[in-house]
Amino acid sequence: MRAMVLDAPGRRLRAAELPVPEPGDGELLIKVHACGVCRTDLHVMDGEVRASKLPVVCGHQIVGTVDGSGERVGVPWLGWTCGECRYCRSGRENLCDRARFTGADRDGGFAEYAVADARFCFPIPDDYPDLQAAPLLCAGLIGHRALRMAGDAERLGLYGFGAAAHIICQVARHEGRRVFAFTRAGDDAAQAFARELGAEWAGASADAPPEELDAAIVFAPIGALVPAALRALAKGGTVVCAGIHMSDIPSFPYADLWGERSLRSVANLTRRDGEEFLALAPRVPVRTTVHEYALERAGDALDDLRAGRFSGAAVVRP
Ligand SMILES: [Zn+2]
Ligand SMILES: [Zn+2]
Repeated sequence: MRAMVLDAPGRRLRAAELPVPEPGDGELLIKVHACGVCRTDLHVMDGEVRASKLPVVCGHQIVGTVDGSGERVGVPWLGWTCGECRYCRSGRENLCDRARFTGADRDGGFAEYAVADARFCFPIPDDYPDLQAAPLLCAGLIGHRALRMAGDAERLGLYGFGAAAHIICQVARHEGRRVFAFTRAGDDAAQAFARELGAEWAGASADAPPEELDAAIVFAPIGALVPAALRALAKGGTVVCAGIHMSDIPSFPYADLWGERSLRSVANLTRRDGEEFLALAPRVPVRTTVHEYALERAGDALDDLRAGRFSGAAVVRP
């Protein structure tokens, strides 16, 4: 089969011809129809998130059909957990120390076929074509988890308006929240896109919003946004860092945290997040904006993501 492989951190993806993988006990062989591109793929390529399997097939937002049954399933970032540790036994499998992640510890979906543990696959809602469904599997799921951590905040700031924010903006509006979108300075296209999706204000990340925020989610991997987001909060507000990696956070005065403001990260996802979000998405309904790339152009999709050359989400179609 054709696949796009990462040989080592710091390299570009390489087109390879690999044998079709063989499923083990409890695993499914999936014919990949689409695989979303995520910033985490860039972190794996750059060595900021460690891949334990090298070479590895990247990609962890897989939509495909199960060999044999033809059932359409999605495969997310969380590929396997131990089921035994204190995290797994307390509904926090996202924190499992032995967790294995798709496209980093197991081969992912930038390929014609993938193998996945059946217990970590989700049925895909019928409302979504393959390409449109793919970004739900990480941008959507982890965005959803981050939004839950924001509590019942009415005025919500989204820092970085990429794949996750474009989905979560729609969910937040559906829930009656008010959305304030922050982008790179001068990114008029992203700001216009945010307003189209229901943000009532869009501006540069260094700008102060027109009102205080009750919560902010930082999707961009830029640590300097954390104190900026804290300064935009009302008392009692929360900043949620939703990315798996970010640059160092500059120091800031305690006064910016004072007033019962809180700062937290969101790590990975649980299967429950997946079930909840894939039930919620068609009810909103979430509409994803996708940019299609052929499998061999997965590296270009990642370059375009890094440079911010598109709005919405990139999806690779084998
Ligand atoms: Zn565990
Ligand atoms: Zn991801």
